[in-house]
Amino acid sequence: MLQGKRAIITGSNSGIGLGVAEELARAGADVVLNSFTDRAEDHALAADLAKRHGVSARYIAADMSKGADCRGLIEKAGGCDILVNNAGIQFVAPVDEFPAEKWDQIIAINLSSAFHTTAAALPGMRAKGWGRVVNIASAHGLTASPFKSAYIAAKHGVVGLSKTVALETAGQGITCNAICPGYVLTPLVEAQIPDQMKVHGMDRETVIREVMLLRQPSRQFATVEQIGGTTVYLCSPAADQVTGTTISVDGGWTAL
Ligand code: NAD
Repeated sequence: MLQGKRAIITGSNSGIGLGVAEELARAGADVVLNSFTDRAEDHALAADLAKRHGVSARYIAADMSKGADCRGLIEKAGGCDILVNNAGIQFVAPVDEFPAEKWDQIIAINLSSAFHTTAAALPGMRAKGWGRVVNIASAHGLTASPFKSAYIAAKHGVVGLSKTVALETAGQGITCNAICPGYVLTPLVEAQIPDQMKVHGMDRETVIREVMLLRQPSRQFATVEQIGGTTVYLCSPAADQVTGTTISVDGGWTAL
């Protein structure tokens, strides 16, 4: 379905970004992976995707906390038809103790990077009359929790940016939407399970259900494959008129 389309996925050497790249490649898109590191294993991820899906794939190192790097990523890739803004970090502290440098870093990586990459990618999409911008926001783009002020401000910002870009590109063959995942079982989340089991004296299933997924009514994690599949849907003809909206993949969290 996506043969001949080039997708850039920021922050895609692990977790959701890598899962999205996998599903886009499975659908036939050429993919550009990214993170701030430049290791042999990063490039090997791209080679593996290319081999398994018969698409072209490359890895481009660029630091999404820096505006020039964000714009440089789009330029080095030769533009893109599909842009997935996924890079993100988290830090947890009460707002009056929140380190200012952490606030700045989270706003830069989780929000401003999407502004820079989108600004750099749109002219190429307009020239082709087709483009998809998919922003990986969060249930925290629609609702809040304590101690995550920067992350929640950034994710609400991503939702607002998505709506604005949708209005500015409406009728031009370009759509822009935000996917809002609840808890997704990524390596990062998986690594927290043993500690939580110890702290709470619970087995794996109980700690997942009663502690980690307390706010997710399904009491099941979303998967990177599901976020990837939602991205592929947004790139399909069925979603041509889906723009400026959010799609929650959160097991009912935001219905509460
Ligand atoms: P992750 O840590 O596995 O992935 C984050 C990615 O961003 C990694 O590839 C990392 O290398 C990259 N990254 C970090 N700083 C970067 C920088 N300065 N420049 C370039 N790349 C950088 O975590 P994840 O869970 O896969 O998160 C991916 C996205 O999904 C994030 O935006 C996160 O907020 C969002 N999200 C995750 C969950 C969840 O439960 N896992 C839920 C909702 C939203």
